[in-house]
Amino acid sequence: MDFVSAPSGESSSLKNPVLEVEAVDMTSAGVKGGTATENITAATEEAAQSEDETDSDGSGDDWESQSLYEDAIQVVRDEQLRDGVPDACTLEEAIAYRRRLHDIGKAAFVEETIGRDTVTAKKLCTAFGILPPAFLDDAPDEAFHPLLAIAISREFQKRPKLPQYNTIDDAVKLLQESKNIVVLTGAGISTSLGIPDFRSKDTGLYSQLAHLGLSDPQEVFDIHVFREDPSIFFSIAKDILPTEKKFSPTHAFIRLLQDKGKLLTNYTQNIDNIEANAGVLPENIVQCHGSFATATCVKCDYKVSGDDIFDEIKKGAIPVCASCRKSIAEDSGVKRKRSSNGAHKNRKDNDGDSSDEDYEIPTPGVMKPDITFFGEDLPDEFGHRLLHHDRDRVDLVIVIGTSLKVAPVAEVPGVLPRTVPQIYISRTPVSHTEFDIDLLGDCDVVVSELCRRAGWELKHEMIPADEKVEVLPVEDYESRHVFKVVGA
Ligand SMILES: [Zn+2]
Repeated sequence: MDFVSAPSGESSSLKNPVLEVEAVDMTSAGVKGGTATENITAATEEAAQSEDETDSDGSGDDWESQSLYEDAIQVVRDEQLRDGVPDACTLEEAIAYRRRLHDIGKAAFVEETIGRDTVTAKKLCTAFGILPPAFLDDAPDEAFHPLLAIAISREFQKRPKLPQYNTIDDAVKLLQESKNIVVLTGAGISTSLGIPDFRSKDTGLYSQLAHLGLSDPQEVFDIHVFREDPSIFFSIAKDILPTEKKFSPTHAFIRLLQDKGKLLTNYTQNIDNIEANAGVLPENIVQCHGSFATATCVKCDYKVSGDDIFDEIKKGAIPVCASCRKSIAEDSGVKRKRSSNGAHKNRKDNDGDSSDEDYEIPTPGVMKPDITFFGEDLPDEFGHRLLHHDRDRVDLVIVIGTSLKVAPVAEVPGVLPRTVPQIYISRTPVSHTEFDIDLLGDCDVVVSELCRRAGWELKHEMIPADEKVEVLPVEDYESRHVFKVVGA
């Protein structure tokens, strides 16, 4: 589940290295009324900043629509450049420009190209995959500068694809040879178990929420709403919790990587804690949005295992703190009270106890599962582990079942060394990040086929013993492959 995200203004320690990179060529930028070079360079900084802001709002949906220009942007793919596009760079030119940009930085790159009139801005845009819109066709070259600024900014933030990894065999070989794999996971690895993906509008959960009178379903996971009335959260929490201790073939795959001593860290956006069911060790997992594995009292910070309140959550009840209850009983001699939840304004439904209201009787705190709500800080562990444990060790990144648009996980590929190969496994490809190999399809099917080809035994009741998987190429994409079960 990847709906809980860094709230606006939230900044993990990850932001720092990103900003350091950005700051490198800030020196010659930002002078209004400067040369074309200076203006374009300054504009790339603005474009970069606005991408950051959009990114951190957590919705992910407006990723590519920040300005009029961006709405007008048409993408030109490398495969098209290779075949030849009128007035555009050749693929070889494009690759050379990109390499040069990454080598010398934005300011020097703009100075060397536009500053010295070696190429037009209109043509240079195509080197970065942007086709100038038709309405600018007869415009002077300066009209393309803002577009070029966006193009350069995007390219500079992007990790360039490693050209040597493309095929399924490459992916299998990477699996076999890598020793320290970072696995990023999202809702897609749990959907085969019937756990709803909250970002998908057709799961029925949103309509379930309508009767709670919420204007935005995300309010269920808003910490302020929770403090006001925890019953809203607990009325749907029972539907999020997995009913049995089951796990998907993809969870089993992550466990298999662990058994082979190859799992460096599994960063998961999911809060269902299903990784534990598969036997992935807590020291190998970072639950980026927290999880139901533990719960904490909102009043006294008393912590319990998630299992301790599991039954109450399943019943739709509001679990309260045993420690608070004990000290209340000891302090005042008042016997155990049911139902008080610490939120005084919302007791109208607790008809049986409404007479208590006027007496300010101490009430035990509510036990809040340790998932990260909107308005709460993300667990510190994330950035620390990534920068101080993984960054220098990782030799392969596998992203599974997430569109990778939500912070903080979305930042991971950009922070790890660019020479580390990255494989993407999901139903649909993404365009904002470039992976070396895209393996498209049901992730359970993809990982089972990868294991088969690697000669690894991935046993799981949901993988039929005689399963045959065909892999189809995707036209125009050398590194994209679709996995399908034969006869399915
Ligand atoms: Zn307590």
